[in-house]
Amino acid sequence: MAASVDRRSFLRSAVAAAALAGAPSRAWASGPQRDGVLDVIVIGAGLAGLTTARDLARAGNDSFAVLEARERVGGRTLNHALRNGAWSEVGGQWIGPGQTAVADLARELEIETFESEYRGRSVYRYGEGRVTVRTDGEVANEPQLTAELEALARALPAEQAWNADGAAALDRISLADWLDARDARPLDRLTFQIASILEMGVSPSRLSLLHFLTMIRCAGSLARLEAQKDGAQERRFHGGSQLLSIRMAEALGEGVRLGHVVRAIRGWDREVVEVVTTRGALRAHSVVMALSPPLCERIAFSPALPAARRELQRRWPAHAPQMKAAAIYPSAFWFDAGFNGQVFAVDGPVIWSYDNSPPDHRLGVINAFLRAGEMPSDPALAERAVTRVLADSLRDDRLLTPLEFHVQDWGREEFTLSCVSPLPPGLLTSGLMPALTDGVGALIWAGSETADVWRGFMDGAVRSGHRAALLALQSLRSQRRA
Ligand SMILES: Cc1cc2nc3c(=O)[nH]c(=O)nc-3n(C[C@H](O)[C@H](O)[C@H](O)COP(=O)(O)OP(=O)(O)OC[C@H]3O[C@@H](n4cnc5c(N)ncnc54)[C@H](O)[C@@H]3O)c2cc1C
Repeated sequence: MAASVDRRSFLRSAVAAAALAGAPSRAWASGPQRDGVLDVIVIGAGLAGLTTARDLARAGNDSFAVLEARERVGGRTLNHALRNGAWSEVGGQWIGPGQTAVADLARELEIETFESEYRGRSVYRYGEGRVTVRTDGEVANEPQLTAELEALARALPAEQAWNADGAAALDRISLADWLDARDARPLDRLTFQIASILEMGVSPSRLSLLHFLTMIRCAGSLARLEAQKDGAQERRFHGGSQLLSIRMAEALGEGVRLGHVVRAIRGWDREVVEVVTTRGALRAHSVVMALSPPLCERIAFSPALPAARRELQRRWPAHAPQMKAAAIYPSAFWFDAGFNGQVFAVDGPVIWSYDNSPPDHRLGVINAFLRAGEMPSDPALAERAVTRVLADSLRDDRLLTPLEFHVQDWGREEFTLSCVSPLPPGLLTSGLMPALTDGVGALIWAGSETADVWRGFMDGAVRSGHRAALLALQSLRSQRRA
């Protein structure tokens, strides 16, 4: 089994896959082989797993199964259906410049994108304090701190930054330590506090400076990482981001098996691996693990995984309690008053709200990231808490009475655990990172967390799926030659 791929072997595999795509599928594989052993089992029907399976199918291989624990596909992308055929995304939703893998996938699936609506005034809340600023989707970080962070980020390689000179020193401290050392003003700390919680699910004190820099490096600038205008939050998908997975799964048909929770993987060091699910066992020559390290940690492997991989899975952040609400109104009336629906709050139940209306405005929708610890568990009280912040901030009591109110609590999702991966100081340079991507035996690691660029984003998930399919094809080819 190939371990990590360098650029040259990756390209070689790409050429091989392209050649295979042109070959008659029967010559390559045609469903389960006679002894009941599949070529590939893919675990997880999120963007990563489905991209893997789609690439296998496009290369002419139909001897695979995608095993998905939930009764739906899409993983961390999820559309919440609204009245009038509208939708609101309650998981991953935006893409932006440089996220070419997910943009290409959308184009191939004939799913169009549209620009988020961010023009207008935003409201900043601090306790009872309220300030309105015309932001138009841009971010206002302090220029000196921004310039210093971007200079540090630019000095890092785009991939495997943990191998760079000086990486250990940057990984030893948190973003908060760095802000302390720079003597950042309280206001600037608050800006980073909100950005860190929104993007990574944790406060700056729990985020490795090196990790934050790698995110800036891959986005190109801090603004590109954080902003809507020209940034990673610039565009949405018509039909919602989950549609990408739904379309892929429809095309894969019976290859995708829902409600199959993988509990154990046996004999990954042999030619034929057994994958034990809640609905029986399947066997295959290769297994693509298209799920995050903490989710892998819940599966029983025999023999035990190598020590470095086990430690990586144990140390990987397993809880980023993102909570997202959607409040639905008859129209997006906040734009009439010059507001863009955005409220940034440093305390209280709402962290950040934003307009999430359908592009034709057949309804008005405000989505909000919430502070889980500040949210009442009673649904009626939760709705009142959130809509009260919106009404006070945007000065409109119509916001108190939505047609519908919905909360998605990812902290309760057994098959997600971690929405994004806020890596703490020390993990990136612990020497464990090769175990994130280096295959062992018949196992190939995928999922957004394994991507070289845009790790933790939908784009990273798609990239990891392409890589995993190439590795699986490469491995099958060498097995057949042996
Ligand atoms: C609230 C939120 C907001 C986000 N915002 C954005 C955004 O705006 N832009 C962006 O690019 N990204 C965003 N992300 C991140 C993005 O959604 C993810 O990086 C991406 O969807 C991950 O895809 P994946 O296929 O790697 O993993 P997942 O989507 O997690 O897929 C893994 C799959 O494995 C399944 N599974 C788990 N355990 C088992 C098991 N034992 N057996 C079988 N199946 C199993 C799961 O059910 C799941 O379907 C956000 C995420 C969240 C939660």
